[in-house]
Amino acid sequence: MVWLKRALKSAQFKMLMLALSAGTLLTLALQTFELNLLEAYLYDFRMRNKGARNHAEHLVLISIDDKTVEKLNEFSPLSLKQHVTLLNQIGKAKPKAVAYFVDFNDSVLADVGSDDRVSKKNAEEFVKVADALHASDIPVILGTEIDMTGEIVPPFPLSKLPHRVAILHVDGTTFSEDEVTRRALFSIYDETVLHVRLAALVNGKTAAKEYRGVYQMPDIDANYFLINYAGPTQHTKRNFSEVSALDVIEGKISTDFFRNKIVLIGSKTKDRSNDYVYTPFSRTTFTNPKLTIHANIIETLIDDAAILQTSKAFDTLLSILLTTLVIVMLFRTTPIRGVVFTVACALIVLLLALAAFRYYGVWIRLSHPLMGIFFSYYVFVPYRLITEYKKRWEFQKKNEVLMQVEELKSNFMSLITHDLKTPVARIQGMAEMLARSGVEPKLVTGILSSTDELNNFITSILELAKIESNRINLDKRSKDINKIIEDCVRKFEFQAQSKKIAIRSELDPLFPIKIDVPLITKVISNLIDNAIKYSPEGAQIMIESGESLENPGYVEITITDTGHGIAPKDLENLFSKFYRPKNDVTLQTKGTGLGLYLSRYFVELHNGSLSAESVEGRGSMFTILLPTEDSSEKLAPPSSLEGEKAYV
Ligand code: ADP
Repeated sequence: MVWLKRALKSAQFKMLMLALSAGTLLTLALQTFELNLLEAYLYDFRMRNKGARNHAEHLVLISIDDKTVEKLNEFSPLSLKQHVTLLNQIGKAKPKAVAYFVDFNDSVLADVGSDDRVSKKNAEEFVKVADALHASDIPVILGTEIDMTGEIVPPFPLSKLPHRVAILHVDGTTFSEDEVTRRALFSIYDETVLHVRLAALVNGKTAAKEYRGVYQMPDIDANYFLINYAGPTQHTKRNFSEVSALDVIEGKISTDFFRNKIVLIGSKTKDRSNDYVYTPFSRTTFTNPKLTIHANIIETLIDDAAILQTSKAFDTLLSILLTTLVIVMLFRTTPIRGVVFTVACALIVLLLALAAFRYYGVWIRLSHPLMGIFFSYYVFVPYRLITEYKKRWEFQKKNEVLMQVEELKSNFMSLITHDLKTPVARIQGMAEMLARSGVEPKLVTGILSSTDELNNFITSILELAKIESNRINLDKRSKDINKIIEDCVRKFEFQAQSKKIAIRSELDPLFPIKIDVPLITKVISNLIDNAIKYSPEGAQIMIESGESLENPGYVEITITDTGHGIAPKDLENLFSKFYRPKNDVTLQTKGTGLGLYLSRYFVELHNGSLSAESVEGRGSMFTILLPTEDSSEKLAPPSSLEGEKAYV
């Protein structure tokens, strides 16, 4: 529970809530726009890329095509006389059913020219043949159109035959305004259409609820479903078994072709644009024959494969989820990653939607989620950039101020140290004169040691200031290190004796190496000084030098004492600026915490190293390694400056 409370109060949670609200608002705002054109495009894209469905071989198509019309010297959809011959031929083959997607009013017109009696005779003949087929259990059904008044019944006497509505829906206002056929009528005024009637011959299903994806159109008393096209609908890429009416009339098609099949008859000629529609596969005229679309509709029903649409609530949720996700990402990562994420997110959603369509026949509306993704990108990336720039600008300002402070500090340091040094030197000189003139020696030594201490402090500060302003230039000369060590030992003899400390040295003969003598002298002096300062009375100091055995090419100098030693936690920070361990010995001993920092810096300027080992209470050992060869003319900045810490 505590973690829940903490999580609810966390900055991340607040940010998430903010993004969620922004995502929701954006989604709701976008939903006031229909975006049907985009949705239609995305729908068609999926339809075209879903892959072809396997064909159930239930349907055969007879097209009244250009060849038929030309050869018979007729107009599409042929005169009734020709239809009588056609139906007779089909009937012989014992099909499962015969369905006409033909406007017989046109056929009657085609009979004009011959006189009325002939026309009537042909029509009656047609009805007779159809009735005979009915009697042998082969339904012959005429597809009809509808207009404002309802079904347009075929002309008498054809109206005596079974007929059913068989229209193609084109998207005009319900979805998109591009006149593409994507959905089909299932029933109107409670009457199922011809397609359902034919599908029922195979699967026995006639009720809307028995099929997937059938939905009601709220405004009209009609049910619809989305056609799951078997494949491309262009007549050049035929999916269905199809023959020309002429070949059937001329008896060129074997009866096996029609046996037990549902035969669909329709017109497909180049002089009737009405024979064609637009589909997701093509939007050029004279390309997608209505007959093929009817076959696709019937087959969608036979396979019960209508496309399912997700609910409005699902679409809204998906859109909110994705926009929120993109907003969160845009807030959390760099603008560049934000772009990559946005594009990747859109692509993944597209691919998932494509997969859902392809494998499950589910249509997830993509226009709002995709627009949500891109809008959040356009709204939030500039915001993000502005905050980023603001941060950078503030950082720059701060940096400028820091640089000014740094300059002030270094000016102040050199000013103070120079102005302090001169009077201290004067006091020192005068105290020496006093000592020589026989004044109480204790007093004078007091003055002298205090001025020494002050002097050391000022020198250290001066050196630090020099380091920090990069003003140190090495003045290298060949020098025997042992000579320097001996000089230093001599310098500290008196100080050591006063604490009864013995300094021993074991110095192997060495070739001179190139070093900055004053700097290295300072390092060795400082280490001997520390060894004396941080060791009790009677301790021992050992100074050794020689070629390093572990590091060939280096001279190794070790200064070992049997003093108080250093605790492991202090050992880590020993070489940091101003660091002084918090223990009694250190507190009672005067110092700045700069000696070791400067020593390591000076040694590293020579491309060498300074390290310390210690056992608390037993003593410490400091090791200096200096290269024998002057390997580099240009020195890399000492590592001790990188990521340094200061203890002030
Ligand atoms: P300072 O001696 O002015 O305090 P240094 O940088 O020379 O500054 O030394 C830092 C600290 O390291 C000292 O305060 C001391 O506590 C510890 N230290 C240095 N050398 C020794 C040593 N030989 N034995 C024990 N402690 C030491």
